[in-house]
Amino acid sequence: MAGAFEELQQCLKRLPGLGHRSAERLALHLLVEKPESSRELADSLRRAAEVVHPCPECGNLCEEACCAVCADGSRNRGLLCIVESVPDLRSMERAGAYRGLYHVLQGKLSPIHGVGPEQLNLATLGQRMERESFSEVILAVSNDIEGEATCHYLQEEILAPFAVSITRIGFGLPSGGGIPHADATTLRSALEGRRRYH
Ligand SMILES: [Zn+2]
Repeated sequence: MAGAFEELQQCLKRLPGLGHRSAERLALHLLVEKPESSRELADSLRRAAEVVHPCPECGNLCEEACCAVCADGSRNRGLLCIVESVPDLRSMERAGAYRGLYHVLQGKLSPIHGVGPEQLNLATLGQRMERESFSEVILAVSNDIEGEATCHYLQEEILAPFAVSITRIGFGLPSGGGIPHADATTLRSALEGRRRYH
């Protein structure tokens, strides 16, 4: 069995964006340079893991029965914006240009990476479409081959039976970076420049 330090380093290394050296540096920071911060981190991680979960309605992060967006009675309930991830949703919220509801896919279709429809948050999307009466569904999915395939699938397999206007956000978004890296102005104009999809 590996020692405690090794084990922590291995755990950190598995986090996105951390290589061997960064993991080692973080482990040293937590245990040697700032040992008092390691307990605080462990406590907040445990607490967050206990209370934070995906919103059963939309997939956003939430700590209650549903997320702050779904619970907000002042939102426009006729608009549904489909995004790939929670960071995308948060960028849209920071840009402040959208006041409808969201649906977070938790990814996009990518056969190469083993992501098929069953890996995405799609079951609840169909249920919401049946239950709610959205007037417009905005596809705010990235502008690459996988994003296009995802939009096509959503349109054909889920949205087609419903009398709803389907739009796709305009792009001036940085290529490859997508929504999380776009500034508020770019996001706002991408949303305003949305066009009818199909
Ligand atoms: Zn929600």
